[in-house]
Order: sequence, then structure tokens, then C-alpha cells
Amino acid sequence: MIRPILRYGEQVLHQPAAPVTDITEDIQQLIDDMVQTMYAAPGIGLAATQVGVPLRIFVVDVSGGHNLADLIAFINPQLVEADGVQYEDEGCLSVPGFNATVARPTRAVVKGLARDGREQVREGTGLLARCFQHELDHLDGTLFVDRLRGLQKTLIVRKIKKLSRSGKW
Ligand SMILES: [Zn+2]
Repeated sequence: MIRPILRYGEQVLHQPAAPVTDITEDIQQLIDDMVQTMYAAPGIGLAATQVGVPLRIFVVDVSGGHNLADLIAFINPQLVEADGVQYEDEGCLSVPGFNATVARPTRAVVKGLARDGREQVREGTGLLARCFQHELDHLDGTLFVDRLRGLQKTLIVRKIKKLSRSGKW
């Protein structure tokens, strides 16, 4: 089932999510729905907070559904290593219509549980490293806009507020 994606300004997106304590049928359903929602958007990553569920789960697929092996679901993920820095344009399904250059590591290693409950460690470089960091941020209540500074951030926040006021957000 495709779930509605929350937008910048909705409470759940701006608060840290809680660890998953038990991988129930509901959690499996949530992950299926998140994958479906991510592909439908279309996007290359989605955190549970973006569909209004304050739990530490994210899904990513940098191939956008073209390569099955690229689909990764993480439960209770933690960043265990990060190196380097890359500057690329970044967007977010919860901040539609806005992009900005965000500094991210060039390599990131994430440890957590796979959906079958087994521990998994994944290494990402380039786009996948960026994606990992972006989704981990979501689980801490941080959006890419929060990573920006100065005028760039002010302009985006101001435009979002304007859209909200006119009911277009
Ligand atoms: Zn996002």
C-alpha cells in the first residue's frame, strides 16, 4: 500500500524516531509499504518518519527499482564509519520542489538489522553513502534543509512557509 508522504513542518519529521523492539507482521507490512511508496514517488530512499511512523527504519535503492540487489531495508541502523566529503545537489520527498548542495561523506558504513532480523553491515560510496546519511538524519529528526546555513536555508524555509500559508504545501 502506498502511504502518504509527510512534508517539512509535520511534527513526526522533526523528532528522533524510536528503536524497533520487535520485528512484527506490522513492521514487515510497514517495510513493504515503504518500498512501494518510495518507488511510486519515485525516490531512492525513504525513512519511516516520512510516512508518519516514528520508528528507526529506512529503505534505499539507488537504482530506483532497476536492480533488485540495490534494495536495502535497515532496522535500527547506526553509522559505524564515515570518511571524506562530497558536495552534491540533494532533495527529499518530504521537501518537494527544493534542492540544495549538501556536504556528505563519500563513504559510509551502516550497521543494523535486515528485515529478517539478522544483523547486516553495508558499505556505501558516492550516492549510496549520501543516501545512507540522508536517511539516518531522518531518523534523528533532521532534514537536509536543517543541514544548510545562512541565506540558502532562510530562502527555502521562507518559501515553504509561504506555500503553507496559501495551502499549497
Ligand atoms: Zn528525505
